[in-house]
Amino acid sequence: MELTRENLRKEMDSFRSSLKEESISHSEKSFYLEKDGEVASIILDEVGTKANKLSTSNMLRLLELFMEIESDSKIGCIVFKSRKPTIFIAGADISEIEKMGEADGEDASQGLMKLQAVFTYLEKMPIPSIAAIHGVAVGGGLELALSCDYRMMTDAPETRVGLPEVLLGVIPGWGGTQRLPRLVGLEKALDLILTGRQVDSRTAKKMGLVDKVAPKELLEVKAMQWARSLAKSRAKRRYDGGHSLMERVPGGKYVVFEVAKKKLLEKTKGNYPAPLKAIEVIKATYGGNLEKGLKVEAKAFCELVGTPESNNLISVFFLNDAVKKDKGTESGVAGLPVVHSAVVGAGVMGGGIAQLFAQKGVRVRLKDINWKAITQGFKTAHAIFAKRVKRKRMKPFELDNAMALIEGTVNYTGFQHTDLVVEAVVEDMEIKKKVFQQLESVVGEKTILASNTSSLSITELSEATKNPSRVVGMHFFNPVEKMPLVEIIRGNHTSDEAVATIFQFSKKLGKTPVVVKDGPGFVVNRILAPYLNEAVFLLLDGVAPEDMDQIMEKFGMPMGPATLLDEIGLDIGAKVSKILYGAFGDRMKPPPFMEQVVKDGFLGKKTGKGIYVYGKAKGEKTVNQELIKTFKPKARDAKLTDEVVERRMTYLMVNEAARIYAEGLVRHVSDIDVAMIFGTGFAPFRGGLLRYADSLGAESIVSELEVLSRTYGERFKPCEYLQQLSVKGGTFYERSGNGKK
Ligand code: NAD
Repeated sequence: MELTRENLRKEMDSFRSSLKEESISHSEKSFYLEKDGEVASIILDEVGTKANKLSTSNMLRLLELFMEIESDSKIGCIVFKSRKPTIFIAGADISEIEKMGEADGEDASQGLMKLQAVFTYLEKMPIPSIAAIHGVAVGGGLELALSCDYRMMTDAPETRVGLPEVLLGVIPGWGGTQRLPRLVGLEKALDLILTGRQVDSRTAKKMGLVDKVAPKELLEVKAMQWARSLAKSRAKRRYDGGHSLMERVPGGKYVVFEVAKKKLLEKTKGNYPAPLKAIEVIKATYGGNLEKGLKVEAKAFCELVGTPESNNLISVFFLNDAVKKDKGTESGVAGLPVVHSAVVGAGVMGGGIAQLFAQKGVRVRLKDINWKAITQGFKTAHAIFAKRVKRKRMKPFELDNAMALIEGTVNYTGFQHTDLVVEAVVEDMEIKKKVFQQLESVVGEKTILASNTSSLSITELSEATKNPSRVVGMHFFNPVEKMPLVEIIRGNHTSDEAVATIFQFSKKLGKTPVVVKDGPGFVVNRILAPYLNEAVFLLLDGVAPEDMDQIMEKFGMPMGPATLLDEIGLDIGAKVSKILYGAFGDRMKPPPFMEQVVKDGFLGKKTGKGIYVYGKAKGEKTVNQELIKTFKPKARDAKLTDEVVERRMTYLMVNEAARIYAEGLVRHVSDIDVAMIFGTGFAPFRGGLLRYADSLGAESIVSELEVLSRTYGERFKPCEYLQQLSVKGGTFYERSGNGKK
């Protein structure tokens, strides 16, 4: 049966019968009408949560409200308003999307088309509608707004719109692939749909996605004024599309699709099916009949949902969500507020950390041993802010205000008022101990003392102080402004309050925190070290740097290991490797010649020469033949296939991660995956390192590690925990059994 408006009215009962009474009554309380003369406002205020979501029962509720409005001939315009402080509508209910993956494709598609029809119903109502957006309107939230005739949006920073479905391995399924291109034209729509990025009011207005922008305080008044005038004219809107010149020239659309696809494949190496499918759907439907287009969209959506890629991306979403709800400790004790802070050491990391604190409105004293170093720290912070201004993410006066929150000092004045001090001085235990002892004598009783060390023991450091319970690790990654992960290191004496404070504060900074116990390399560096060592062993075995980079990019890493080593710095890599060798012995033994190449000054990108030689133009690099000569590589053996190269690197990571888990260094298996995804960009479509390991099975990993161990050395010996899993047929995660495997 075709889902016309009339049919949909008839379908209401069957729609209702698929839902539980309690969800129907929840939706009735959450979405309701307020009438004011000729204007009906649909209020979105989902009970018991911070976010409005479009669950099936909420969609049914919307349909009921549309019909109720239609039965009142006085009403001439509809306005959608959210009562949530930072969210208009956060999108579909993701657990419902996940469940769709278990349903039969045809049933799922039929179900989805009913939900699509709710928005089509709204679009075809004889009276106009306005989405008055304050806060996030993403996914289904934006698709609802796109089904309205008009959109108004506040200019508040928390108001952002986008279609992030590809980040969950699916495509927009409630008309987004149809209505967005019709509204803003192909190029802009593809940009949003293929990247999943969210845009602010300025960009949304420029691209024609919203009609009007209003200050937050005036949204309600302005939207109602507009609605009253529309109620008189009853003017519906036609799509008038912001088609670019390229789309209008003959053959132009074809070029737009081809360019988009090429760019996408370069970026994703074909690992993400959803954006490719989005291109396919839009290409097949653009400019055609809307109903037919919606059908194609629904079918494509259902083909993607439940695939391993989508399941894994959804699991990453839930991992992130779990971090948001977590407090960082089992006791659930609340963290202390951080209003005044200080950073000691104004180097690469200290400058970046001070910038981040100031960006979030936290006062920060930046201390170093001399003014030259402090000036450098200010320069680092200023450069990051300046980039944000250039990208129009902040206004010049906001830069000035934020910089004013950073105060330089060569002594400890003002430290007694700090809630948190982050130490980021040179990586030297004795120097750090001294700094902590000095800090203890100047800060208040409640001040938390955190170290940004990447390898030193927090327990040992804390023992140099009188109150070791307030000493904790707060390990940022470089560059601070870009890398989402913060490893929070709990030493043997660290209190729950100290952990909770850093956990809560890291989230406030917009970072993803993971709590780990003290141990050499913590989680990320301990897993990365054998991976990067192996890259050098592979060089010795004759694998070209570009080849190994390509193999690992194809696997899903954001950059290959040779490039990553150059980014980190071969000197730093060698130093970390040495520390971990000291701690764990032979399996972490650094490859030969590393000290030599460091002595030769091949430190990586920072010296212009590392494994690659870097040219002046962005991205320009060639292999550093001088370094290769030092390594005296063998000729690559035919048995060393690309697959073996990939396994040598990835299975070593799995092996080390299994040890970390077995040693109880993390609270949950998922902490390792969160750390690797947000600390190294480990292939999100694989759901994280250990979810990837589960997809292969412990038995196969163990037997492959044994083969590698016989061929390439003892470092590949499977650890005990993996062997046990292999014998039991166990997995790291509990089996959920969902999805099309
Ligand atoms: P850096 O050498 O750039 O900066 C260190 C700064 O500390 C210098 O400005 C120095 O003058 C200052 N300093 C030294 N002794 C001091 C003292 N007693 N009081 C005040 N200031 C003092 O180093 P960095 O790369 O910023 O690293 C700092 C810390 O962060 C180290 O523990 C490092 O292991 C860790 N870390 C570094 C990275 C990275 O990639 N660079 C990443 C994560 C963590």
